[in-house]
Amino acid sequence: MKTRKGIPFVLFLSVLVIGGCFLLQGAAGDTRVYVTNSGKKYHRENCSSLRRSKIEVSLLDAVKSGYGPCTSCKPPVLDEGEARTAVEQSPTAFYRVNIAALEGSAAADPGRMLGAEVVSHVDGDTVRVRIPNPPEGLGTVETIRLIGVDTPETVHPRREVEFFGKEASDFTKQKLLGKQVNLAFDWDTRDKYGRLLAYIYTADGACFNAALIREGYGHAYTRFTFQFMDEFRALEQEARREKRGLWGNEQ
Ligand SMILES: [Zn+2]
Repeated sequence: MKTRKGIPFVLFLSVLVIGGCFLLQGAAGDTRVYVTNSGKKYHRENCSSLRRSKIEVSLLDAVKSGYGPCTSCKPPVLDEGEARTAVEQSPTAFYRVNIAALEGSAAADPGRMLGAEVVSHVDGDTVRVRIPNPPEGLGTVETIRLIGVDTPETVHPRREVEFFGKEASDFTKQKLLGKQVNLAFDWDTRDKYGRLLAYIYTADGACFNAALIREGYGHAYTRFTFQFMDEFRALEQEARREKRGLWGNEQ
C-alpha cells in the first residue's frame, strides 16, 4: 500500500520541482533584447543604435556573452539571482566583473579569471601578456590596457615624459614583469587601438589597477564606464589626501 501511495506523491513532487525551475528560468530566458554585429551593448527593440544590424537574443544569453545594457535606451537588466546564474554559466575565459553585483574589486573571484604571464612592459598602465590557451577571440600574446586607470605618459611619440611617469612605469614593471597574473574583463573587451581591456589580479588576489591608483601612480580614468568606477574615484581621493606618489609635494 505504501509504495502505491508513494508513486503519485513522487510524481507530484517532480511536477513541483520542474515547474519551479521553469519559473526560475523565466524572466531572463524569455525577455528578448537586441544586439548588433559589432557593438558590445544590448538594446530595446526600438533603440536608434540598431539601425545597421539587429540580432534578437534572450537577455540571459546577451549577458552571458558579455553584452552590457545600452545607456541610452536602458533595456531591462538581470536581477541578482539571474546574474549569479549568468556568472556560473559564462566561460572562465571571459570572466566579466560587471555581470554580478560586486561590492568592489576585491570581491571578484580569481578562480574564474583567465591566467596569463606578463612578458613585457610598456608603461604604467599597459603591459604585454602571454595567454597559454587563449580562448576564441584572443591571441597567444596580447597587449593589455588596464581598465579605469591612467598613469602619466612615458612613451608618447610627441610628448615629453610626464611628471611621475617613470616612477609609475617602474612600479608596474617591478610588480608585474615575469609574473603569473589573472585577467578579468568589463563591458568592453578592446579599445580602439585593439588593446585588450582588463583588470590584472596579482597572485595575492589584489586588483593591480586599484593598487596603482591607491598608491598614487595614476588617476582614476572614468571617461568610459566600468564596474569599479566609484571605488577607483574614492581611491584617487584617498591618494590625493595622503599626498601619495604623483600627488606629493614635489609636483
Ligand atoms: Zn540602446
